[in-house]
Amino acid sequence: MDAEAPVIKHLQNRHSRFRLGLIGDPVAHSLSPRMQQAALDALGIDAVYELWQTPADELAACVARLLDPLYLGANVTIPHKQAVLPLLDIVDPLAARIGAVNTIVPRDGYLHGYNTDAPGLLHALQELGVGKPSESTTISLTGYTAIILGAGGAARAAAFALASTGVERLIIVNRHLERAQHLAAEVGDFLTAQRQELSVPQVFSLSDPEFLIPHPLSLIINATPVGMHEDLSPLPGEVLARFGNETFVFDMIYNPAETKLLCQARTLGMQASNGLPMLLHQGALAFTLWTGQPAPLEVMRAALAAE
Ligand code: NAP
Repeated sequence: MDAEAPVIKHLQNRHSRFRLGLIGDPVAHSLSPRMQQAALDALGIDAVYELWQTPADELAACVARLLDPLYLGANVTIPHKQAVLPLLDIVDPLAARIGAVNTIVPRDGYLHGYNTDAPGLLHALQELGVGKPSESTTISLTGYTAIILGAGGAARAAAFALASTGVERLIIVNRHLERAQHLAAEVGDFLTAQRQELSVPQVFSLSDPEFLIPHPLSLIINATPVGMHEDLSPLPGEVLARFGNETFVFDMIYNPAETKLLCQARTLGMQASNGLPMLLHQGALAFTLWTGQPAPLEVMRAALAAE
C-alpha cells in the first residue's frame, strides 16, 4: 500500500459526527464496529463506525455516498469485495492484483481502494512468531512451504502476500481445481514480473488430500469457511498427522475461536492460531489509511477480546 497519509478533515460548521462503516451482506455479526469504535474513541476522533447492510443493487449508491465530506471511509466484506473495484477511482496495485478491496478511502474527491487482508495476514504471522522479521516484506518465510486451503478472495490475498516473503514453496489446494490453477498462474506471472526465484505455485484438489507430501517447516493456512458453521475440518486428521510438529496452522476463521482444524493441529503438538490476529491487523491498517494516525493496537485487541 502506498497511500500518502490523509489528515482528518475539518469541516466548518459541522453538526454531525464523521461516519465510517462496513459495507456487506450480511454484516450483523461483524466484530469490526467494536474494534474500530474503540480505536476512534481512544484517539478522540469524533466519528461513528456503523454496519451498512447493503444488497448488491444498492452497492453503487452506498459507495458513491462516501464522497460526502462526512465520510472518512469504509470497509467492504462478503459478497462485495470484488464487485466494488469498478466503482472506485483508484485501486492500489496490491488490491488490483488480488482482485479484492476491503478498505475504501475518500481522498481529494476520489475513492481509493485497498486490500489490508494481505498485509494484515503477514502482520499477524509476524506477531505469532512465524518466520523471521524482514525490513522489506514484514516477515521472511525463507525455507517455509506455505499451503493455502482455498482459492477465493481471502486465499488470493494470502497467496499474493506470501509470494513476497521468500517462501520456498507455495501450494494452493481448492475444492474446484480450476480456480486454484487460475490463481497459481496469476501468482506465477507476478513472480516472473518480480524476477523472484519461487516457482509457479503447485495446485491440488481438496477432495484428493493424498497429494500432500509433508514438507519440513510448513505453514498451513485455511482460507475456506469449512469449520465455521459445522464441526468439520478442511483436512482429514490423518493428512495433517503426516506433517511434523514444527508445522504452524493458521485458520482464518475466528468464530468459533477453536475450529476442528485447530483442535487437530494442537492435538498433534503443532502451533496454531485462529483468524483473530488477522482481523485485528487488517483493521489496524485500515484505521491508519482512514485517519493517517497509528492505530491503537492494544485498544483494538482488547475490544475484540471483550465479550
Ligand atoms: P470466498 O471468496 O467465498 O472463498 C471461499 C473459498 O472456500 C473457496 O476457495 C471455496 O472453494 C472454498 N469453500 C467454500 N465452501 C467450501 C466447502 N464446503 N468445502 C471446501 N471448500 C469450500 O470467501 P473468502 O472471502 O475467501 O473467505 C474465506 C474464509 O476466510 C471465510 O471463513 C472468511 O470469514 C475468512 N476470512 C477471514 C479474515 C480474517 O481477517 N480473519 C479475512 C478474510 C476472510 P471453491 O472455489 O471450490 O468454491
